[in-house]
Formats: sequence, C-alpha cells, structure tokens
Amino acid sequence: MLKGKTAVVTGSTSGIGLGIARALAGQGADVMLNGFGDAAEIESLRVGLEREFGVRVRYNGADLALSDGGGAVVRDAQARLGAVDILVNNAGIQHVSPVEGFPLDRWDAVIAINLTAVFHGIRAALPGMKARGWGRIVNIASVHGLVASVNKAAYIAAKHGVVGLTKTVALEAAESGVTCNAICPGWVLTPLVQAQIDARAAERDIPAAQARAEMLSEKQPTKAFTTTEQLGGLAVFLCSPAAANITGTSLPVEGGWTAQ
Ligand code: NAD
Repeated sequence: MLKGKTAVVTGSTSGIGLGIARALAGQGADVMLNGFGDAAEIESLRVGLEREFGVRVRYNGADLALSDGGGAVVRDAQARLGAVDILVNNAGIQHVSPVEGFPLDRWDAVIAINLTAVFHGIRAALPGMKARGWGRIVNIASVHGLVASVNKAAYIAAKHGVVGLTKTVALEAAESGVTCNAICPGWVLTPLVQAQIDARAAERDIPAAQARAEMLSEKQPTKAFTTTEQLGGLAVFLCSPAAANITGTSLPVEGGWTAQ
C-alpha cells in the first residue's frame, strides 16, 4: 500500500518507533530511522529491515534535544530518500518527579524532545507534502496528552502541547491532502515504561511483576499492555485511503484508561 512513499520515524531504534517503522516498511515504504543506541546494532537493524521488506532504509542519528534536530532528520531524508511523505514524530523521554523538585534540565530536555522537535520536524516536512498534495503526519502523543497523572509535569505539558499542535497543523493543511493526527497510547511495555516499573519496584521493595500488575490495574482497565504491533497497525491505517478524511484527531489506544 505504501510502495513509493518515504517515511521518517523519529526515535525508531527502540519500542513504539521501531514497531511503527517495521509496520510502514512492511507496507513497502522506504524508511529513515532515527534514535540512539549501539552503532553496530542499529546498522544490523537497518540492514535487517531492508532485507526483510525489500525497501530502502537509512539512519540519521540527530539528537532531537538540539535546536532543529527534528528538521535535520527530515532534511536528511529528503536528500537521501528523495522526499518525506510520512512523518511519525515518536521520539520521547520521561522524567518522574514532583513539580517542586523537578530538575530544570529535565524539564528543558522533555520539552525539547517531546514537543519542540515535533514542531521542527513538521515545519521541515510540510512544504514538500503540500507541494505533492499528499502527506501523513502522525504524532505519538500519549494518554497523558488527554489527562494528567501526578509527578509527570514536563511530560504531560509536552504531550498536551503535541495534541494542540496536531489540531493546528491539521487545520492549516486541511485542503492540501495532508492529514495530521496524534496517537495516544496508554501503557506500552517498552524500555521507557520498564524504567518506571523498575523504579516503583525498588522504591516499594516489591517484585517487578507486582509493580507491573499494579501499574496496569491502577490505570488501564483491560489490564493488558498496548503492543507496538497494534500501534504500528494504527499508523498504517492513518496512512491508508480509508483515513484520508481523518485529521486533527487524537486517538486513544489505552485499554479504557480515559473512559473512567
Ligand atoms: P523508548 O525509550 O523505547 O524509545 C524512545 C526512542 O526515542 C528511542 O529510539 C530513543 O533512542 C529515542 N530518543 C530518545 N531521546 C532522543 C533524542 N534526544 N534524540 C533522538 N532520539 C531520541 O520509548 P517508547 O516507550 O517506545 O516511547 C516512544 C514514544 O511513545 C514517546 O514519545 C513516548 O512518550 C510515547 N509513549 C509511550 C508510552 C509507553 O507506555 N511506552 C505511552 C504513551 C506514549
């Protein structure tokens, strides 16, 4: 379905971004990977995707905490893959702390990576999408773009910002063939969430399995993690003709979290 299209997926060396990159490559899209990690492992991931799906896969290691890092990844994809038709703004970090003691450098880093880089990426990609009359922007926000929880001030501010940015871009691009939507996952068992499970287990001196079960039952009524494959499937759907008139939305994938 996506043969001939080119996708940028930020933060795609791990977790949700990797699941989405795999799903888009599985539909025939060429992919620009981005994110941190061991250079040899990233290269074997890149080559593995090319072989498995018969698409072109490139890697750009730009640090999205830096000013215009998101723009740099998009411009590199335009130069090396010809265009950017699909932009998945996925890279993100978390920091957990009460607001009074929230470290200033963590606030700056969370806002830079989770929100400002999304703006830079869209700003760089949108003109080409509009000129070609087709584009899909998929922002990985969070259930925390819709509701709050304690001790995640920067993350929740950034994700609510992403939801607002998504609406604005959708309106500005409404007549151009470009859609812009946000996906709002609840708990997904990735390294980002494993770190929170481990911290909770250590703090309360309980086994990790118990910490994991408690986190699910507090927030996610299905008591099941959303999988990276499910999120990859939703991203593919948003790129499909069936989704051409879906824009400006924020789609929760959170086992009933926000129904409560
Ligand atoms: P993850 O830690 O597994 O992956 C994060 C990715 O971002 C990695 O590839 C990492 O290298 C990259 N990254 C981090 N900092 C970067 C930087 N400065 N520059 C470039 N790349 C950087 O996390 P994940 O759980 O897959 O999270 C992906 C996105 O999904 C994030 O935006 C996160 O907020 C969001 N999300 C996750 C969950 C969850 O439960 N895991 C829930 C809702 C939303």
